Amino acid sequence: MNQKKIENLWTELLREIGENPDRIGLKDTPKRIAKMYKELFAGYDKKNAPKVTTFPNGQDGITYKQMIMDSGNGYSHCEHHGVVFSFKYYFSYIPSEKGKLVGLSKVARVIDYFAAKFQIQERLTQEVVDYLWKELSKDCEPPIGMALIIKGEHFCKKMRGVKKDGEMITSEMRGEFLKPDLTKGNAREEFLKLIDLYGGGRV
Ligand SMILES: [Zn+2]
Repeated sequence: MNQKKIENLWTELLREIGENPDRIGLKDTPKRIAKMYKELFAGYDKKNAPKVTTFPNGQDGITYKQMIMDSGNGYSHCEHHGVVFSFKYYFSYIPSEKGKLVGLSKVARVIDYFAAKFQIQERLTQEVVDYLWKELSKDCEPPIGMALIIKGEHFCKKMRGVKKDGEMITSEMRGEFLKPDLTKGNAREEFLKLIDLYGGGRV
């Protein structure tokens, strides 16, 4: 990422939308934006791909066999409109007895990494699970299951166009979480459960 080039492009953009990039309040804005982009778009540089620290299940004589859940939040940019979408995520996995456990801060880092570029929520959900599944399957048994649900709030829907609030839910399920899968008549149940995530309860 060429900082000077981004600065110049932003100066030009400000002028084009009717601003005066030379006024005092905007003097250092292109520079600040260019600096900020290093963080907001860190996902374009593969060097920033997070190292996922894992621990062998069964170490020190303790084997964990149940579901592990975690949640958190994050921000990304909608690739269709270039504005932010914010989201909350719900992650879960069931480690294999001969598999690995993962530090949950690493899950957060993987999500931040894939969110730090122009994205669509659908792809973000898949990329995170692909990456974590691969890391947790390296040289060992893969997890019994893994699931990620992302609930996103898209500002391109809120602040422009239809100007509607509302959240979008996407999910990616692997292994045990796919049973029974949606194609086998479980769509209604899944839909009703997801409504709870909206805070809406049962209809
Ligand atoms: Zn959009």
